[in-house]
Amino acid sequence: MKLTVYGTEYRRAAAGRRAKALALALLMLFVCALGPSCAAERPAERELFLMDTYMKLRAYGGKAEEGLDEACALMSRLDSLLSVTNENSEIFALNAGSGQPTPVSEETFELLSIAARVSAKLGDSFEITLRPVSKAWGFTDGPMRVPSDEELASLLPLVDDDKLTLDPDVGAVTLPAGMQIDLGALAKGYAADKAADLLKESGTEAALLDLGSSTILAFGSKPDGTKWKIAVQDPKNPGVYAGTLGISSGSVSTSGGYERYFEQDGRVYWHILDPRTGRPADSGLLSVTVLSGSAAEGDALSTAIFVMGVDKALELRRDGGGFEFIAIAADRIYATPGAGAVFTPMGEYAEVPLEIVN
Ligand code: AMP
Ligand code: MG
Repeated sequence: MKLTVYGTEYRRAAAGRRAKALALALLMLFVCALGPSCAAERPAERELFLMDTYMKLRAYGGKAEEGLDEACALMSRLDSLLSVTNENSEIFALNAGSGQPTPVSEETFELLSIAARVSAKLGDSFEITLRPVSKAWGFTDGPMRVPSDEELASLLPLVDDDKLTLDPDVGAVTLPAGMQIDLGALAKGYAADKAADLLKESGTEAALLDLGSSTILAFGSKPDGTKWKIAVQDPKNPGVYAGTLGISSGSVSTSGGYERYFEQDGRVYWHILDPRTGRPADSGLLSVTVLSGSAAEGDALSTAIFVMGVDKALELRRDGGGFEFIAIAADRIYATPGAGAVFTPMGEYAEVPLEIVN
């Protein structure tokens, strides 16, 4: 999935106002040279590759540079704790464990607690204990292949988040022997939430955190007062956009089959699996974009809605969801009222029926 963020640099002054804008810019340059206050107008930026993802962070405010340095260090730490393939990670140790309680860091414990709570709410569409099955498909470690029915049937009994036990008194996690977890469905969202908390604490006024384009979190007002504009990828055409979302703050998380997949004998197999079957999700959706206050929850939700489909997602929402979504199917776009109100379809998607669902 690819979301692209459009910033102020793409805005163009109306032709008749160009001269005025230039004069204003020169004046601003002069004023900036006189004092430090203008640092707040220019974003501090970092680009990094973590969690198998190219991330771009942009922050505004006097403390933005220090804040971003701390946020980068934090995300690097989370990457080393949570990676399912890094032999030194806590998740790797947990997955290789013998079913005994394993003490973990505060962050890993917190994320597992969020995952367990969200998983209980999302039912059988979402299971972090899906790792034995996704490993068989080779989506994370390779080689990608179609497991046999017998193989999947033997692995599915190992998938059950209810069997994960968390002991807050000692900060330990117990995972029955043979079971394995993969936090890929919400780790980036959690990292975005933690980075935003850190930036806010360190006095950053506004920021746009783009974690691989599939997880985006914005807070604070842009200095020019405009909304953060986030483009939603066309799930059928890489590099093309289906539309843009204009948000004041919050997270935008997208899940789609096109993010990681392989083809065999004319069939496409993607990395988001239905835990009931152990096979690629088959809800009829091509991508799901969730708007939510919490990036960790939004990340988990976009993955789960891609599995459960629109009707169940609406049920979940009516039960006190607190999220909005855009779901792209082959012949239409479904949008909850709050998401539809801030979504502007682009190109051929301007002609696709947009159905507001509630
Ligand atoms: P996302 O890109 O956030 O949708 O997450 C996709 C990743 O989540 C996959 O690469 C798997 O590691 C993991 N995953 C796939 N299907 C599920 C599922 N049904 N529940 C939880 N995690 C999943
Ligand atoms: Mg996700």
